[in-house]
Amino acid sequence: QNFQSVALIIGVTGIVGNSLAEILPCADTPGGPWKVYGVARRPRPSWNVDHPIEYIQCDISNKEEAQSRLTLLNDVTHVFYVTWANRPTEVENCEINGKMFQNVLDAIIPNCPSLSHICLQTGLKHYHGSFELFGKVAHDTPYHEGLPRLPVTIFYYTQEDILFEEVKKKEGLTWSIHRPGLIFGFSPYSIMNIIRTLCIYATICKHEGLPLRFPGTKSAWDGYSICSDADLIAEQHIWASVDPNAKNEAFNVSNGDVFKWKHLWEGLAEEFEVEIEEFDENKRWTLEEMMKDKGQIWDGIVKENGLVESKLEEIGGWWFVDLVLNEECPLDTMNKSKEHGFLGFRNSKNAFISWIYKIKACKIVP
Ligand code: NAD
Repeated sequence: QNFQSVALIIGVTGIVGNSLAEILPCADTPGGPWKVYGVARRPRPSWNVDHPIEYIQCDISNKEEAQSRLTLLNDVTHVFYVTWANRPTEVENCEINGKMFQNVLDAIIPNCPSLSHICLQTGLKHYHGSFELFGKVAHDTPYHEGLPRLPVTIFYYTQEDILFEEVKKKEGLTWSIHRPGLIFGFSPYSIMNIIRTLCIYATICKHEGLPLRFPGTKSAWDGYSICSDADLIAEQHIWASVDPNAKNEAFNVSNGDVFKWKHLWEGLAEEFEVEIEEFDENKRWTLEEMMKDKGQIWDGIVKENGLVESKLEEIGGWWFVDLVLNEECPLDTMNKSKEHGFLGFRNSKNAFISWIYKIKACKIVP
């Protein structure tokens, strides 16, 4: 087949990487037909094998490995960088995430004469700082792309600076930066996948005959929240990589509606056939604490239901949900993205349910 574009997805088993791997190879995807390479650190998982892509196992934090595996590719036209590593401090995050991104660009830019665009995914932490700084240094909402950087250390700024330096090395090479909020998507491997975590929590509640309790504050339960659908983010990446209006710009990417967790909670309870415990803001608790001894119970559920092998400590991700649901959700605006021509949106409540279906269909939960 003659391909018009050649994609390199870095982080192909991640929450947005998985959506890109699903959408890019489709016959009607803009810029196509696309040939797709997908890079991830671990061996190819069973839930990824149906995507018509060339899977490359490579640890991009290892410079030699990145050089030896990625310099073999010389036909890449577009890079989709959708990965990160999480370290205990933000200084360490800058170091590791800067290194990973640099290793990829060092291998690709000199070796791919047709390289034309690099998409970098960061997020709304651009506007409110790292998790430890939540609520302390944030810009006023709604967040928009015209806001200046905060005077804080955050790995997104390190990655942006590397991007701006690297694109200078090749005439005509363009970039775009994509800033989602909380992502709704599929990946069992993602460091932060709130829907997967909630599905596992609901499964354990069902198994133990417990009602669903909301592990968050009143402002999260009852206030407006926003999120970013993984397929929508993938669509914005692809739009930016082919539309001349989107070149050399940063864009927020969120669904374009608001929702309340108390409404999604009803959907979650229905899908897993569990009761909802009445929300009481005076009863504070964490999923991390509640789930710390449930490893064996999870092993049993996996076996009994013939699920894809997983360990609760790897797939749980409790810390992230405890964190997100204990903060007021900051709002962003999609005006810039729309003004530049990206009109995509999602209905968040419907998206929430359809990702639950997908997680069930792929046998991650029963
Ligand atoms: P993810 O955790 O879902 O996926 C990461 C992918 O990269 C996986 O495929 C993993 O196997 C791969 N990977 C990790 N380390 C690797 C290595 N050393 N070598 C090769 N592959 C490696 O990623 P994500 O959540 O899409 O994160 C991308 C960006 O989006 C980050 O900057 C993150 O902060 C941001 N973001 C995420 C969310 C969210 O809810 N997940 C929300 C807002 C912003």
